[in-house]
Amino acid sequence: MKREAISAVTLAVEPGVFIDGAWRQGAGAALELVDPCSAQPYARVSGAAADDVDEAVAAAARALRSWRTAPVAQRGERLERIAQGIEAHTRELVELQMRCNGKPRFEAELDVSDAAATFRYYAQLCREGGVAASTPVALPDDAFEADVRHEAVGVCALIVPWNFPLVTASWKLAPALAAGCTVVIKPSELTPLAERALVDIVTAADVPAGVVNLVAGGREVGAQLASHRGVAKVSFTGSTAAGQAVMRAAAQRMQRISLELGGKSALIVFDDANLDEAVELAFNGAFFNAGQMCSATSRVLVARSLHDAFVEKLVALARSAVVGAPHETDVRVGPLISAAQRERVLGLLARGKEQGARVLCGGAAPTQLEAGYFIAPTVCANVAPDNVLWCEEIFGPVALVRAFDTEYEAIALANDSDYGLVATVVTADAARAARVSDACEAGVVWVNAPQVIFPQTGWGGRKLSGLGRELGPWGVRAYQEIKHVIRARAGAAHPPQS
Ligand code: NAD
Repeated sequence: MKREAISAVTLAVEPGVFIDGAWRQGAGAALELVDPCSAQPYARVSGAAADDVDEAVAAAARALRSWRTAPVAQRGERLERIAQGIEAHTRELVELQMRCNGKPRFEAELDVSDAAATFRYYAQLCREGGVAASTPVALPDDAFEADVRHEAVGVCALIVPWNFPLVTASWKLAPALAAGCTVVIKPSELTPLAERALVDIVTAADVPAGVVNLVAGGREVGAQLASHRGVAKVSFTGSTAAGQAVMRAAAQRMQRISLELGGKSALIVFDDANLDEAVELAFNGAFFNAGQMCSATSRVLVARSLHDAFVEKLVALARSAVVGAPHETDVRVGPLISAAQRERVLGLLARGKEQGARVLCGGAAPTQLEAGYFIAPTVCANVAPDNVLWCEEIFGPVALVRAFDTEYEAIALANDSDYGLVATVVTADAARAARVSDACEAGVVWVNAPQVIFPQTGWGGRKLSGLGRELGPWGVRAYQEIKHVIRARAGAAHPPQS
């Protein structure tokens, strides 16, 4: 179909509010969803108004009474059914991720299998007692006995960005449901369809009405939800600036918060590294998801003896990588999500060049792809540590390569950032890998490994990268409050109250 023909089609507004087990139209402004590969609108979704948000929170509060007291095994069984539902709908979910984000097929497939694995992991944790409600506490005084309980926090707001909508929603929803919380999901205004599909799978898995609710909309809907009196906990993923706004709002009522924010991570290549493997790791660390990753290792530090050969190979790989829409053959790098994001990245590149950075490849859209929001994989050299490209999160396909002379200097450069999310270390020396992993100020360190993430390992960062950890047992604890119950043993002599 020609572009003009697509624009001429009037798109029906799809419901963007899910409350008490039913979809309905929100009373707020409709969201227009735009295909990042063609810049053409492909769907419209109704946004929530303030009353919709109030109703969604009220529905979650009603459902909380029975969901938080449901046997953990029963909640786990529902999570297992959601995992099966995701697997049964793999084909549609993959297509949806390709459609909405322009992700290459292999990336969309990874997202879907990650979402299913997350629900399955928390189902297993429920079965194996990892969500346990009550455990005895050893006391030094026989006159008393005590136990510790992990109780559901309450109604949770799950606020999701656009870069990994299905994965991020699953990382929040699965542990929240395992813990016994009920939720209101607020997807990104740019990509709400993945969470809509997930909510349908949750409903088909017999999760009771009101346990999972959804309100589509922009940042004002997110802000209203995050500061709502009925919301006990906010789990937020997105920009550091918005995370800080959530934190300020939470201070009013000491709401619980988890924040997964930005990053400016380093990949360190030592002189004993296998050059081809290091280049491949650097390519994926900077260009997977078109670089729109909080964990992007955009700062690539290379031992001086390898630097020139490394740069040559990375530039060659970046130039040869196929950039394009997901259904084209051999595509490795897709588009950015929006015109605004593309402009933001190009603006940062322009400022970085003014400050002395040298663009070795990329830096603009490949000529045949100017209709969409593409930027070719970009490699820069000569980027000083005070260059804007070195300091700010770019969230686009840009790798900055810099030489170092000593292990000490590499660690100092890696940690010289306001952020502290991840790091990658590439070396053949196990002792050095251990030393550098210890020294990195980050929540996750990969050694000679791509950015694999398992539901069993935690996710989150230090400094401006956020607060708290998702995934693993820490993920479920983030949706629980600790309560100790201390009982006097009958007949025991009790000391006076201290
Ligand atoms: P954002 O932080 O503005 O939005 C993320 C989510 O939060 C969206 O659902 C949004 O509607 C909501 N939101 C925004 N402001 C809010 C507020 N004050 N209170 C409550 N909810 C709010 O991110 P964005 O506009 O999608 O992207 C902007 C930048 O954020 C990107 O360029 C990138 O640097 C960063 N980002 C980081 C991540 C990450 O995983 N760390 C993800 C997406 C974007």
